Amino acid sequence: MTEAEAFQPEIHEQPRMPGSEDEMSDKPNWRPRYPGSGRLKDKVALVTGGDSGIGRAVAALFAREGADIAIVYLAEEERKDAEHTMSIIEGEGRKGLCLQGDLGCRSFADEAVARTVKEFGRLDILANIAGEQHPDEHVTDITEEQLRRTFQTNIYSMFFLVQAARPHLSRGSAIINCSSVTMYKGADNLLDYSATKGAITAFTRSLSENLVGEGIRVNGVAPGPIWTPLNPYGGQSPEEMDDFGRSTPMGRPGEPNEVAPAFLFLACDDSSYMSGQVLHPNGGSIIGS
Ligand code: NAD
Ligand code: MG
Repeated sequence: MTEAEAFQPEIHEQPRMPGSEDEMSDKPNWRPRYPGSGRLKDKVALVTGGDSGIGRAVAALFAREGADIAIVYLAEEERKDAEHTMSIIEGEGRKGLCLQGDLGCRSFADEAVARTVKEFGRLDILANIAGEQHPDEHVTDITEEQLRRTFQTNIYSMFFLVQAARPHLSRGSAIINCSSVTMYKGADNLLDYSATKGAITAFTRSLSENLVGEGIRVNGVAPGPIWTPLNPYGGQSPEEMDDFGRSTPMGRPGEPNEVAPAFLFLACDDSSYMSGQVLHPNGGSIIGS
């Protein structure tokens, strides 16, 4: 049996977003795959969307590498995902701070940064990972409300957070923004979402030009299909989920812990000569730049 054939995700049909990792029967793999080496020793990171999926794996890896971490997430009925991520951070011997709210609102983005700095005394890394997506067959199906919502969550939030964080960032700080392969390949049923991801890549490049002289590096990560709550909980249609990840050259979805190392590389000094770039953990799709 090939790896692709072995992967049989159980499809959930609850169009409730954000989705719950706790409720997924096939658990995404967030576990760091190697011992820590102090790459982020005593740094402070703000990881949005850190409750679940890619954000959880990033929080776990950053904690293993020595960072204290504030995670931001949108309301869940129960706080199981966020609490689990907090326990992962604390299990690595680091401190965690859990912040719940809507990053599409400037006031909450300001508060998230202020509370992080108050708790930990500094901010070194901003990992902008929170996002939402809603599939639509026709361009005419996209409601104005959804359009505004998706742009608010996915790209306005990055402007708000970067503006709030800027006074606290100094030489050696890093900003990493989560884009998507849909920005590079196009996605016929994710027009609004992929447009926000295009904006994120352009923002990443322009912000890099803006901040590089101050020694603050800005890069992005554009994952392919990754096994997280995002797609099975309404981010894709059930029909699309049947083949999730199979059209990649590797023929399978990625796991969050196959994406987190890209964020770590861009957050630490290993990437000290890189800014304005995007890394592509996407199962082998060749997409240009
Ligand atoms: P996820 O659902 O586990 O994580 C997204 C998190 O963002 C949610 O848990 C939620 O708490 C948070 N969030 C959503 N809206 C928010 C808001 N308004 N304010 C604050 N927090 C909010 O799914 P994921 O797949 O890990 O998604 C993380 C990022 O990865 C997203 O930006 C997504 O677009 C991107 N991405 C995912 C895939 C994939 O296939 N899973 C592919 C490419 C890019
Ligand atoms: Mg979540």
